[in-house]
Amino acid sequence: MSRPHGMYRRLITLLFLSLAAPAFAAKPFTEGMVTITLDDGWATQYSLARPELNARNLPATYGLVTLAIHESWAGYINLTQAQTLVTEGNDIASHTLTHPDLTSLSPAQLLAELQDSRTWLENALGLPAVPNLIVPYGLQNGPVLDAIRQHYASSRTVNAGRNFRDTVVYELRANDVARTVPVSTVQGWVDQAIAEKSWLILVFHEFTNGTPTRDTEYLTSQFADILDYVQTQGVRTVTLAEGLALTEGRTEPDLTAGLFVYNDALQNGFADWSWADHSLDETGVVHTGSASIRFEPDTWNGLLFHHHGLDLADHQSLRVWVHGGTVGGQAVRLVLHDGAQLLGTIRLDTALGGPIAPGVWQQVSIPLASIGATTGTLRDIYFQDDSGTDQPVMYLDDLVLLPH
Ligand SMILES: [Zn+2]
Repeated sequence: MSRPHGMYRRLITLLFLSLAAPAFAAKPFTEGMVTITLDDGWATQYSLARPELNARNLPATYGLVTLAIHESWAGYINLTQAQTLVTEGNDIASHTLTHPDLTSLSPAQLLAELQDSRTWLENALGLPAVPNLIVPYGLQNGPVLDAIRQHYASSRTVNAGRNFRDTVVYELRANDVARTVPVSTVQGWVDQAIAEKSWLILVFHEFTNGTPTRDTEYLTSQFADILDYVQTQGVRTVTLAEGLALTEGRTEPDLTAGLFVYNDALQNGFADWSWADHSLDETGVVHTGSASIRFEPDTWNGLLFHHHGLDLADHQSLRVWVHGGTVGGQAVRLVLHDGAQLLGTIRLDTALGGPIAPGVWQQVSIPLASIGATTGTLRDIYFQDDSGTDQPVMYLDDLVLLPH
């Protein structure tokens, strides 16, 4: 399809400015919630984290790698300990048989990882059902997700962010509390969950009372500080299963409201593959909500938001808000790509009909037909430096694909 004449394109853009849909709002819960998930079944979760949880009467969700227990791998909890976790009222999720990258497996291997782990947990721990999966490394593509949907009612990723009542339950977001994450940062996340009535899922791995040596190790005393903060703030604590029961149980995104790529965090299965200097949690210059994207478009660097695949035919236009920072005038190109070939591209200033302005938010609305991107599978959305030089910082927010 040929590109529309420039003037015509500007007209289309202006038309969509005036017909812009109302701002999206994720549906809040009746109150903020926090879930503690402990991934992999490390022995130190039992010996160090469990006493802190039990002392505060806080149940957690343990995501267990079942072959580690079945074969008594060193460093992991044993069967008796796993049974004790159940007796003490904790929630158990499957974290597969062997913790592989699920996207790298044959169909038979994938089936075994999903199905055999669940069956083992049900039999060995006497559980009536194990409906929830914690995805190893948070890696799930289209075929993996199709298989997960057949065997589980939900899956939790490691994409950062919070969850809402209308969050898709196969894309649960969770914040990883690695060694380098200070207690104050986690406290900020808890405050945010309370303020916006969202559901914060925290992920922990190993624990130590000494000096952490691995990124996945966390100081037990800092873990205790986080639990104390959760309790003193009075935020509701739920297991993964309890939190899920309070959602709408949405298994597909609601396309009538638009499919958000970013608002306050990446949404709807988009992952951050950016290689430019950037932040997805900029709080100084924000269009709506609590955070925006800060982007320094230098020397062909770019933002890249990756999805396992969206049918472009479901969407009519792409909308994003841009802010030129203190200087403005940035040369930045939007590129839609299917991973193998270009679907469509346009410069943001062209789409705007003028330079990106400093000090103000401007809405850029791009009908997909205007860039020839009406069919195909959208996997990559780029915002890339189009100057090859050093450009000043700019901001983006509320990036959404709108339906027909
Ligand atoms: Zn894991």
